[in-house]
Amino acid sequence: AKSQGRNNYQFYLPEMNEVVSRHVQIEAGLKQAIERNELYLVYQPKYTIREHKITGFEALLRWHSTELGSITPMEFIPVAEEIGMIEKIGHWVLNQACQQLSAWHQMGYTELNIAVNLSAKQLKTDLVSIVEVALGVANLPASALELEITESSIMNNPADAITIFTQLKTLGIALAIDDFGTGYSSLSYLKRFPVDTLKIDKEFIHDIDSQQADATITTAIIAMAKSLQLEVVAEGVENQQQLELLTLQECDQVQGFLFSKPRKATECTELLRAAAGA
Ligand code: C2E
Ligand code: CA
Ligand code: CA
Ligand code: CA
Repeated sequence: AKSQGRNNYQFYLPEMNEVVSRHVQIEAGLKQAIERNELYLVYQPKYTIREHKITGFEALLRWHSTELGSITPMEFIPVAEEIGMIEKIGHWVLNQACQQLSAWHQMGYTELNIAVNLSAKQLKTDLVSIVEVALGVANLPASALELEITESSIMNNPADAITIFTQLKTLGIALAIDDFGTGYSSLSYLKRFPVDTLKIDKEFIHDIDSQQADATITTAIIAMAKSLQLEVVAEGVENQQQLELLTLQECDQVQGFLFSKPRKATECTELLRAAAGA
């Protein structure tokens, strides 16, 4: 047993080194990613469920590292949070997204809004002035910006979240609770947050056509959103059956591969032109 243990150990060690060094490489790479122009945004359209009209886009961050290749946000965002880089990166994202929306507004698509994801670490008082400046520089009305914050990051520190949300609301921007249904927030809290939109997590949407429990949860979230007069968006809509169920339940907006994957801005402009029949 002892020798077997040692073999396992010897077998395992190189892998451990690899994991550690990738983490270290990601840390080092992230610190330079902005300066080296390795970050960019892709945009996924949101559609009204009735007319399939594009209401706006969600900005999603991408990183192509010279050394490591493409790294998913699921992998690098937690590292950015851990090393205190997410504020700077999040600031970059916000400015970039506002500038892109401004370009679309200037092309005449003035009804569009943009949704930007926020990390819990960004929920500090300076966020309000950062948002205000980003809107001012891009010359956008506050109503064109929606900030998405996950239910779990809100529930990390609900008291602080309420304070910041209230300040953000006075600017006139919209607030969405992201990944709704996964973060165990109580209804009493929900009532106290000045939010406009609930985004149902794609985990629930994935099996709504086959899993009764997921369908029931989705129905309940939509009913609750309606009774609280919140806009409700379903993310991760991949097929027609899911869309039909969501239509029956009168979900307001949908987002997902059935309509479009996240794309670069130029491709989104093509989408907008096609939708306008131009
Ligand atoms: P999220 O905000 O819940 O974003 C939805 C994710 O689902 C995106 O993954 C999107 O590409 C993917 N998706 C969209 N439609 C479908 C579909 O029909 N089926 C499936 N299976 N997936 C779909 P992505 O872009 O890899 O982002 C993952 C997560 O990383 C995001 O989840 C968000 O939490 C985080 N993230 C992305 N960009 C940012 C950012 O700028 N700042 C922060 N703080 N987090 C970000
Ligand atoms: Ca989101
Ligand atoms: Ca999600
Ligand atoms: Ca499921």
